[in-house]
Amino acid sequence: MSGDSTRAVHAGLPHAAQGEPFLPGPTFAAPTHWSGDAGPGGYGRYANPTWTRYEAALGELEGGEAVVLSSGMAAVAAVLLPLLEPGDVLVAPSDGYPAVREIATGHLQPRGVDVRLVPSDERALRDALDGATLVWAETPANPGLNRLDIAALATDVHAAGGLLAVDGTVATPLRQRALELGADIAMASASKYLSGHSDLVLGYVACADPAHAEAVRAWRGLTGAIPGPFEVWLAHRSLATLGVRLERQEANAAALAAALADHPAVTDVRWPGVGAVVVFTLPGADAAERFLATAKLVADATSFGGVHSSAERRARWGTDDVAPGFVRLSAGIEDTADLVADIRAAVDAAVR
Ligand code: PLP
Repeated sequence: MSGDSTRAVHAGLPHAAQGEPFLPGPTFAAPTHWSGDAGPGGYGRYANPTWTRYEAALGELEGGEAVVLSSGMAAVAAVLLPLLEPGDVLVAPSDGYPAVREIATGHLQPRGVDVRLVPSDERALRDALDGATLVWAETPANPGLNRLDIAALATDVHAAGGLLAVDGTVATPLRQRALELGADIAMASASKYLSGHSDLVLGYVACADPAHAEAVRAWRGLTGAIPGPFEVWLAHRSLATLGVRLERQEANAAALAAALADHPAVTDVRWPGVGAVVVFTLPGADAAERFLATAKLVADATSFGGVHSSAERRARWGTDDVAPGFVRLSAGIEDTADLVADIRAAVDAAVR
């Protein structure tokens, strides 16, 4: 197998053709010219060649059959809503992305799905597997950053007769290939590292079983959870730099985690070793807000994974079980020394 950047640069590109660009431009079409028997290629809610190329790229990186959707949450919904029926059991993270819990408790539970919200912890998960239809795992989990042993979890989930879906948004397929580790479904928000420039919202599902991919595709076509061709083209273009972006972002994250851990006023510093999300706690909401207002190189913004460093006081959403001073920081690709100096100065000013 080729190295990460080699795969990211070449993923999904068509064979070289005289006079053709490396990555063909986006195809903008609602209907296409289409005679004879009906087919998916005839209408833009069912198929688009720009999606197909990006899906080929994601399929290569994840090692499965990929389907791109209009957002990470559209991808989550395209797995959970058509798959689960009354009487089924969903195990989902209590400490993961909150909108997944909202779908589970707001839409699936009222329709008769038994929803078990469980922390991203191997023992707690093992205790919740009895009768599970689907285990939705997030690793590393956002925002707590717990990591799970996907291979061990897949063995346990399958022994319990269930399917395992893994949200790998924080890790990306360059650092974690859930399907190779035994998961049935890998999902990610491509709004984060995959596109990496904080300029689009996108998501995908990759499946080990083509029948699952077909079910997601059918759901996408039926509900219209489709991405715009331009966003998909931008994401495919951005994929080429994923390897180098990640290398720099992870180096910055490691340096920031070390600098923060060194500071006496900072507690609970965590960096999971993949991706560039670093979390830490300052002594209270005011200190966290002062930190965000003082840091010059860190945008006060939600989301993560972009080339510009950003951070937010996560408790402002009221959806996560975190301390008032808990900060989720996403390291960008700025020079490491600049970033460390800026963040040290901002923490000093915040706790003075
Ligand atoms: N999963 C995780 C782990 C996320 O962090 C997010 C967004 O922050 C999502 C899913 C949802 O993705 P999107 O915002 O692209 O809908």
